[in-house]
Amino acid sequence: MSRVFNFSAGPAMLPEPVLQQARDEMLDWRGSGMSVMEMSHRGKAFISIAEQAEADLRELLAIPDNYRVLFLQGGASLQFAAIPMNLLRGAKRADYINTGAWSKKAIAQAKQYCDVNVVASTEESGFTCVPDEASLAFDADAAYVHYTPNETIGGVEFPYIPDTGDIPLVADMSSTILSRPLDVSRFGLIYAGAQKNIGPAGLTIVIVRDDLIGETLPGTPGVMDYKAQADAGSMLNTPPTYSWYLAGLVFQWLKHLGGLASMAEINRRKAEKLYAAIDATDFYSSPVEKSCRSWMNVPFTLADSELDKAFLEGAEAAGLATLKGHRSVGGMRASIYNAMPEEGVDALIAYMQEFEKKHG
Ligand SMILES: *Cc1c(COP(=O)(O)O)cnc(C)c1O
Repeated sequence: MSRVFNFSAGPAMLPEPVLQQARDEMLDWRGSGMSVMEMSHRGKAFISIAEQAEADLRELLAIPDNYRVLFLQGGASLQFAAIPMNLLRGAKRADYINTGAWSKKAIAQAKQYCDVNVVASTEESGFTCVPDEASLAFDADAAYVHYTPNETIGGVEFPYIPDTGDIPLVADMSSTILSRPLDVSRFGLIYAGAQKNIGPAGLTIVIVRDDLIGETLPGTPGVMDYKAQADAGSMLNTPPTYSWYLAGLVFQWLKHLGGLASMAEINRRKAEKLYAAIDATDFYSSPVEKSCRSWMNVPFTLADSELDKAFLEGAEAAGLATLKGHRSVGGMRASIYNAMPEEGVDALIAYMQEFEKKHG
């Protein structure tokens, strides 16, 4: 067996101990005589797996008691619609901050349900920064303010949490959740598709303040009704049981590592050394302003894009996979989520330096 360092933006690497445990428990989960995949979601065994996962997530993020945690399907993209359906609560308008490709998708979807007020956009800069905190002015009648703390494609991350006063703040944390400690109480709702930093695809986590749920737009499907899902323990219908189980193993792995403060230290180190390597030479460059560079997704370009193909082929041969940048940005993108070991980043930096020696 030989595993590579996989820099995919998502689905992305999972911690190796998690995959090993899943392998060991594949055929017989702890004496139950069955795989987790084969269990009734209403049976005692799976209920214990589900409850443990939620308890561990609550502990990791210190989620206050007045927040409900939902384990849903449909990806972050379904939440683009579920959020207005649940959070408009009679209002007609919502504020959105536009910092990149995922913000734009959230905005386009929300426009089906309400008037979207784009309070700030960094599109003119080519999505290489975030708006100045002092420039943000929110509509007092907005039902909520939506933003994308980490833009997975542009590699742009907010260094601050917008202060929206009494207006609930909604955050698409698909590519940054669990990368560091977080003050959940600053948010009305946090959501994340699992396949970047939580577990396998198929699971979407929603963390929502309980006073915001219970009033949906007419026509909202039952499975998209947060209150109905919360009351049913996310089991209004069959949940993504195996992804839920694996997410639970990832939460355990994070706890054994020392929790999110420890994870944050490692992530900071990984990101800092990779950006330092990019900045150390004109051979490579980062398109993102220094103040808002993502810890998780690191796009970079070669001064001579004619060398892109050779760079990627050599990387592949060196066991560094999926470094091709998103088509809208070009160049390379190294996604270095929690499960990317520090040795993977070290190996990438060594390869970059060697490649420059050969071609620079
Ligand atoms: C990947 C991603 C999405 C889309 O997630 P799906 O689960 O494919 O719907 C949305 N927002 C952000 C920030 C992402 O990184």
